[in-house]
Amino acid sequence: MLVETFPVGVLSCNCTVIACERTREAIVVDPGGDADRILDLVRGNHLVVKHVLHTHAHFDHVLGTREVKEATGASLHLHAGDDFLYRDLARQASWIGLELKDEAPPIDSPLQDGETITFGDHGTLVLHTPGHTPGSVSFSLSLGDEMLLLSGDTLFKGSIGRTDLPGGDTKKILASIKTRLLTLDDDTRVIPGHGPETRIGLERRKNPFLQDLVRGGPGGVQPPRGSKRPGGVQPPRGSKRVSG
Ligand SMILES: [Zn+2]
Ligand SMILES: [Zn+2]
Repeated sequence: MLVETFPVGVLSCNCTVIACERTREAIVVDPGGDADRILDLVRGNHLVVKHVLHTHAHFDHVLGTREVKEATGASLHLHAGDDFLYRDLARQASWIGLELKDEAPPIDSPLQDGETITFGDHGTLVLHTPGHTPGSVSFSLSLGDEMLLLSGDTLFKGSIGRTDLPGGDTKKILASIKTRLLTLDDDTRVIPGHGPETRIGLERRKNPFLQDLVRGGPGGVQPPRGSKRPGGVQPPRGSKRVSG
């Protein structure tokens, strides 16, 4: 299986392309921008993109969706809980001063918890992990010798997704991480929506936001001083605060 992850767009969202080596069928997860780079990889490897999947509908995970859809004819997937964000991409982008010309293309099929999206000889399981947004999902799949998790902006290396944007919910993100992600094998390789890769076991042991949760408490809403949260839509310094 081919797995390629690279940062795209203004907020360096991790876009991941995964392909079946036998059939060349592929999925693209979170085409947040730089569609040319994504399409170069697709063409260079002679891939047939079957599905474009979104971990959630913050604009930094979606801005390359139209171009990838138009170039490949892939079907678009998003959890229905994030429809309100998907319909409002222009306003989201305006949070950081971006002006969008086009509306987002229609979603072909809503992602359902527990469904498997197939490509070639492979498939990825959809885990509904609300909290960062209501429709946030993670994708889990077997790479043969190891398990891979694409955790979107729910779980980062040493941090968790912010919950102060519209639809965010701290209790829900902690419950999602506890019941859906920390239950995975320690060795599970995690590619988050931003920043470096990690492993489930490492986050269970070291993530400052999760230590109270691991011990059975309500979860580390108050992380130690000095830890930082890399994720999500971060208005740059000097820009207006996002309200709501
Ligand atoms: Zn993000
Ligand atoms: Zn986000």
